[in-house]
Amino acid sequence: MNVLVLNSGSSSLKFQIIQTDLELIASNADRRLASGLIERIGSESIITLKAEEKPALKKTAPIRNHRMAIDHIVKWINNKESGIAGVQSLRDIHAVGHRIVHGGEKFTHSTLLDESIVRDIQDCIDLAPLHNPANLKGIYAIHEIFGDSIPQAAVFDTAFHHTMPDHAYLYAIPYAMYRRHKVRRYGFHGTSHRYVAYRYRLMNNLQKKDVNVISLHLGNGCSICAIQNGVSVDTSMGMTPLEGLVMGTRSGDLDAAVLQFLTLKEGFSLAEVESILNKQSGLLGISGLTNDMREIIEEAKENDDRRAKLAISIFVYRVRKYIGSYLSVLKNPAAIIFTGGIGENSDYVRSLICKDMHFLGVKADEDKNKALNGNAGDFATDSSKLGLWVIPTNEELLIARDTVRCVARQELP
Ligand code: ADP
Repeated sequence: MNVLVLNSGSSSLKFQIIQTDLELIASNADRRLASGLIERIGSESIITLKAEEKPALKKTAPIRNHRMAIDHIVKWINNKESGIAGVQSLRDIHAVGHRIVHGGEKFTHSTLLDESIVRDIQDCIDLAPLHNPANLKGIYAIHEIFGDSIPQAAVFDTAFHHTMPDHAYLYAIPYAMYRRHKVRRYGFHGTSHRYVAYRYRLMNNLQKKDVNVISLHLGNGCSICAIQNGVSVDTSMGMTPLEGLVMGTRSGDLDAAVLQFLTLKEGFSLAEVESILNKQSGLLGISGLTNDMREIIEEAKENDDRRAKLAISIFVYRVRKYIGSYLSVLKNPAAIIFTGGIGENSDYVRSLICKDMHFLGVKADEDKNKALNGNAGDFATDSSKLGLWVIPTNEELLIARDTVRCVARQELP
């Protein structure tokens, strides 16, 4: 079956078409047929469309909203010239899988969409006002086009973390705040952490119950997850994706008193401070240059830029502190897994993170580390107690597979 995987952001829409079914999953033979991205929805949009084995098409066009963006993709799918293997028209799309950021406490697994599930996702908007409304726009647009003729599934970033114990997910604030408003830590990037833990299990021939690892997703957004017996027992993002590690534009952990202080000193509203913490902080805020780690490394190395170097130091220091704390909560940790754009591609950042951690049993082989960018493998030395794995993430594949399992009403892993 061919699954259209949609990831709708506030002003962007990413998609993939993945051929998969229960047999292909079992033999790990599912494959991507096409992918694409529409950026800057609401103005002159940049559109990238790519059928596998064909060069990418890049163009600009005014795309007013998500419905128009999906119409654009549908037109491309319906055009035989697009050259998507086995897909001649929309009739060759058999299901849609949506990435949904926040599933609150309600959604502990991926699920087929129906009206009541959509209402429950709407109920989570309070918890994720920046993300869930955009995800829902994708669901509404697909429903307008397909009606009920095609099954749709929702796959939640939060779901993998539903196994966290209460001592890990509760904030130490009055308990009534949790009871009344569900203020707690939920965690995100669950699909990515789950995928790399699964790949690690396959590559090491392990049972799920024997997977005890730390997974580090370092992309534009960054989070770390402690995985015990194959399930999440702690993660660094909180009620929203703002908590935890330093990210491209997010501050990560911060003394909550800073919010009030900035409203007084700078005359900002609370909403403005929150926006600064989400959109103008992290690598961008410290470097004053960019949120892009590649460019920051270049500035640090080639121009000896002081603030670029500081941004890298603060980023790496925060990751190291979290690794230390998660090693202390896991029983028998066996490996650290690096994933996400930075984790997969930057041997430089990986090397800084692992430096001088011998006493924790972490020893990196720098030659192996350099050889791994973009590939899966272990760069620990033979005497290292912990494995140091690079595993490229593939959230879209997991969304497509969960969609297939939901359609087949199979139990979800
Ligand atoms: P997103 O979280 O938006 O999916 P990615 O996972 O693609 O983002 O990660 C984007 C980040 O990865 C950017 O900061 C980018 O600079 C960084 N990155 C990609 N390749 C490299 C590289 N070779 N060296 C350092 N950073 C890299």
